[in-house]
Amino acid sequence: MLNVDLHCHSKVSDGALAPAALAARASAGGVDIWALTDHDEIDGISEAREAAASLGMRHVTGVEISVTWAARTVHIVGLKFDERNQDLAQGLQHTRSGRERRAREMAAQLAAVGIPDAFEGALKYVGNPDLISRTHFARYIVETGACKDVSEVFSNYLIDGKPGFVPHRWAALKDAIGWIRGAGGIAVVAHPGRYDFDELELDVFLSEFKRLGGAGLEVVTGSHTEDEYGRFASVAKRYGLLASRGSDFHAPGESQADLGALPPLPAGVVPVWHDWRW
Ligand code: AMP
Ligand code: MN
Ligand code: MN
Ligand code: MN
Repeated sequence: MLNVDLHCHSKVSDGALAPAALAARASAGGVDIWALTDHDEIDGISEAREAAASLGMRHVTGVEISVTWAARTVHIVGLKFDERNQDLAQGLQHTRSGRERRAREMAAQLAAVGIPDAFEGALKYVGNPDLISRTHFARYIVETGACKDVSEVFSNYLIDGKPGFVPHRWAALKDAIGWIRGAGGIAVVAHPGRYDFDELELDVFLSEFKRLGGAGLEVVTGSHTEDEYGRFASVAKRYGLLASRGSDFHAPGESQADLGALPPLPAGVVPVWHDWRW
């Protein structure tokens, strides 16, 4: 059976490793088909592709686009697109803009609760000045000793209702799917279990996602529990969505799942890679 990992991050967004180092880690983890999916950014793809080729690992292009839908943030993974497409590049650039201003507001909130200089502190972890994210703040907050790890940070800071949370307007769902499809790619809902949708909201969301041309759903991801693998496999079947699998690996010792290490997709779903040929 193929080991496919279609979701991870390099230091071009909020991961800790360079694209080539991730490729090496994926290959060592037994991955046969791999995609780097940095947040709102495709600058790591050429390095990823070259490294994958030199390791004899199959590679497809990837990105994870931040979307605001019904006043919530959802993430849409794009796969197998032409990264030279200009509308996609411009859309991503627009989506990235505003992160610095947001980061300064986050830092001001953190200063008010006794964590000064968090903007500069977060920047130390940033590989791409265009892409300062909550993850970078989380790593700095751990460094200050205020929390023991990144996951504790995301319980006490940086989330709605806690210090350091600044609401942000990301791309529209229609635009994100449009950019991916316009570049010949496939749009996939990232980690659907993370959004706290009730049944009705999930139905409204997935119906709209499909109507706009979305095609896939992550079923096996580092963000899901084992129960959720089964639950979202059923959802994928019910909505006629292709199933995807990806670790969402960010950094050694920080992420739930390592590259290639998750269980295979449950039986009965159609994998998003079912018709990919090399
Ligand atoms: P941003 O795009 O700046 O809002 O940052 C979002 C990123 O924060 C996600 O891609 C994750 O890497 C990280 N993140 C969000 N929630 C959590 C969590 N509960 N535990 C660990 N990382 C998280
Ligand atoms: Mn991330
Ligand atoms: Mn995500
Ligand atoms: Mn991700």
